[in-house]
Amino acid sequence: MTDRKWVYLFDEVKAAEDYAGSWDGVRGLLGGKGANLAEMTRIGVPVPPFFTVTTEGCNAYLANDNKFPEGMWEQMVTALKGVEKAANKEFGNPKNPLLVSCRSGAKMSMPGMMDTVLNIGLNDETAKGMVELTENERFVYDAYRRLIAMFGTVVLGISDEKFEKELEELKEAKKAKADTDLTADDLKELVENFKKVTKEAKGFDFPQDPLEQIRLATEAVFGSWNSKRAIDYRKAADIPDDLGTAVNVVTMVFGNMGWNSGTGVAFTRNPSTGEAKLFGEYLLNAQGEDVVAGIRNTEKIETMGESLPEANKHFLEIAGKLEKHYREMQDVEFTIENGKLWMLQTRNGKRTARAAVKIAVDMANEGLISKEEAIQRVTPKQVDTLLHPQFLEETKEKAHKDGSFFASGVNASPGAAVGQVYFDADTAEKMATDEGKDVIMVRPFTKPDDVHGMLSSKGILTSEGGATSHAAVVARQFGVPCVVGASMVKIDMVKRQMEIDGRVIKEGEWISVDGGSGEAFVGKLDLTAPSLDEQTDLMTLLSWADEICATDGIRKAPKGWPTRGLQVWANADYPKDAQRARAYGAKGIGLCRTEHMFFEPARLPIVQRMILAKTSETRTEALNELLPYQRSDFEGLFEAMDGQPVIIRLIDPPLHEFLPSEEALLEEVITMRVKGETKGLEEKEELLANVRSLHESNPMMGLRGVRLSIAMPEIVEMQVRAIFEAAANMALKGVSVHPEVMIPLTGHVNELKVIQPRLIEIAKDVMKEKGVEFSYKFGTMIEIPRAAVTAKEISEVAEFFSFGTNDLTQMTFGYSRDDAERNFLVTYIEQGILPKNPFQTLDQDGVGALMRRAVRNGRETRVELEVGICGEHGGDPDSIEFCHTIGQNYVSCSPFRVPVARLAAAQVALKYKDQEVNIKEQ
Ligand code: PEP
Ligand code: MG
Repeated sequence: MTDRKWVYLFDEVKAAEDYAGSWDGVRGLLGGKGANLAEMTRIGVPVPPFFTVTTEGCNAYLANDNKFPEGMWEQMVTALKGVEKAANKEFGNPKNPLLVSCRSGAKMSMPGMMDTVLNIGLNDETAKGMVELTENERFVYDAYRRLIAMFGTVVLGISDEKFEKELEELKEAKKAKADTDLTADDLKELVENFKKVTKEAKGFDFPQDPLEQIRLATEAVFGSWNSKRAIDYRKAADIPDDLGTAVNVVTMVFGNMGWNSGTGVAFTRNPSTGEAKLFGEYLLNAQGEDVVAGIRNTEKIETMGESLPEANKHFLEIAGKLEKHYREMQDVEFTIENGKLWMLQTRNGKRTARAAVKIAVDMANEGLISKEEAIQRVTPKQVDTLLHPQFLEETKEKAHKDGSFFASGVNASPGAAVGQVYFDADTAEKMATDEGKDVIMVRPFTKPDDVHGMLSSKGILTSEGGATSHAAVVARQFGVPCVVGASMVKIDMVKRQMEIDGRVIKEGEWISVDGGSGEAFVGKLDLTAPSLDEQTDLMTLLSWADEICATDGIRKAPKGWPTRGLQVWANADYPKDAQRARAYGAKGIGLCRTEHMFFEPARLPIVQRMILAKTSETRTEALNELLPYQRSDFEGLFEAMDGQPVIIRLIDPPLHEFLPSEEALLEEVITMRVKGETKGLEEKEELLANVRSLHESNPMMGLRGVRLSIAMPEIVEMQVRAIFEAAANMALKGVSVHPEVMIPLTGHVNELKVIQPRLIEIAKDVMKEKGVEFSYKFGTMIEIPRAAVTAKEISEVAEFFSFGTNDLTQMTFGYSRDDAERNFLVTYIEQGILPKNPFQTLDQDGVGALMRRAVRNGRETRVELEVGICGEHGGDPDSIEFCHTIGQNYVSCSPFRVPVARLAAAQVALKYKDQEVNIKEQ
């Protein structure tokens, strides 16, 4: 005999705890349902007597060629005796028969995916006994025919249509409309017919031996762990295949014993709104399946007291007790048998994002949970959901079914959008502004001069580009739902239409885009907008998140390193973005991409003049014209961020981006030449020559960032002057300014040594001119691997680091950030060559290793070095976790992602509360 324990009786939860070591372990051993039934029993909630066969038993059975492991059956028989004793009934005894159900129950709930058999224990003899006891023949034979059918389909694998057919034929013969019209005699006849179905299909009789029934049902439930639908569900829900299911053998109680009986399901709070009020339904004189199947109209749980006052009172008491005990909203199932309440299940209830936030905040306010727990009860994804209009899952499922789905790509910026398709930025803007249309801009990819069209659009769809492509970055920054890299979409700019596998969508047609899932549909899908009342709860929750992050000492770190949690800053280019960022709770600006300001229609010609200038004087002239524009933008930023740091990055992109494309110019020049037009031809030819002279094979690795500043220092000198004049003007108005000037794309400390001192001189000059002093910093982006590796030297000059992980990922992997997703990256992820898209979630082993080293080495030189991240990863919860663990000061992301990042930062601070910051090489 083995001494391995495969079976736990209802009162053995302590033994299970001792064996499994924790509550999570108990859930793993007994399954979620079994563990909670045992726990309810322990705290005195009425649960029908039961026993549980463990998930270990299931795994042993499956591993043992579908045979019970040694000792299991004997333990089940012994446990059954315990159940008989508690229920005061006897299994198989016609005088006082015990009936049981055999229910599956894995650690994680897998609703409806595995098998259950009810009414086990009924046979010809016990049925007769039951009739005598209940004096209700109809009820007994109804239960018996249900057992034979359920057993036949679930355990013996007979097609349920065969039983259905018998039932329908009998109903027709008896002229019965509903099942309930059948009499006791009819049901007796049905029992005999069902037995025949079994015999015909299997060649043996429906087993009359109750023990045989229980044994076979248990095997069937074990086997259902490996059914196709269960395997598919696990894959989709990320549930490991080796957990196994437990089997719960539970005394049957009946809600269909008359009008003093009933059954129902309820949530202890409203799972849709979170309102702290019982929410559920019940049916009198019915079984559980009737509630779920919707055959009869259910009643609201609030009215149960009218028909069953005593049981209702007891139920309310127990629902409250369970919620207090589990300190979580519960989803319960119950049955009332002849006025007596039995609880059949309790589990943490599933809920919408809105309800999750409200319940967490309410429970903390009620003192049921701590603020820390409230923070951990809400996922970053739920917060994200609350900030964007959405398509409900049902809506999308329907759209998939009716063939509206037409493309998928990278889910670049979350949110749902519905609008009419336009294929270029000017038309998109015109349609939106002049004609008041809802627009979805569809482009192969976007460039900075498409931004006006993007901003006018409700959504964006591109056929090329990846998670850090221009379209993705800008869309996220401005909260525009966006799908990029939908490579099946072929755009025909001449016909002004797109084609997807033969399906044509013309300009002006309606489409719907889900930026959260990366899907696109033809037509108008219904949008669900987040309402404002829930935002107050969200704001409360996030203020608690900030409190946690602001706690000194929550992070254990070397002396001089930050010991509070991460701060969340925002990437914002314009004052109105900064205002939004602040309203969303940002504590600073981590990246202002100044070049975006150069693209505005009034400024671009000046910028082009500046680029094409032949002498330093004419360049300076153009720059002097730009200076007031930049200064006023910066003034707005400083004002919006009063009291908080503002990192302004000096010009980064290669200059050709500000000029027309070579192809377009060439076409214009050739057309003019062919037509013999001379007016303006010379200028165009000169422009073309200039564009050609600026051409680089690899512009991303060419004359950009600090290299451009060194080659053409006048631009950054103007920018620094504009920054400091703006800061000084605002300081004089009483605004507390903290400018931080960021030099992009440094690869060697000498680059900084050349440019930074010149810029600091300008800063000092301006402060002297204006007669005002304020603190400021000069620092650099770390976005080239060499900069990360030589951080020790770089921090001799730079006062802060900001990881530009878009470029750092590009350069560490050697993947073009604009092309990789379109060409091979998506396949890489599908094939499992890479676990995740490194442009969305930081590659911790490679890019992350460089970052960890850079923080440690940088702070060796300058312990107070301020370190942040401003690449797209700054808003990604997994990446935020990593940034916390390497000791960064802040993360910076688009204003719309700030709330998500605040929650994620607090969650990670709590997760690593007592752990040292990890500064060692991994
Ligand atoms: C980066 O490279 O991560 C970054 C923030 O800069 P940009 O995306 O503007 O190159
Ligand atoms: Mg960069």
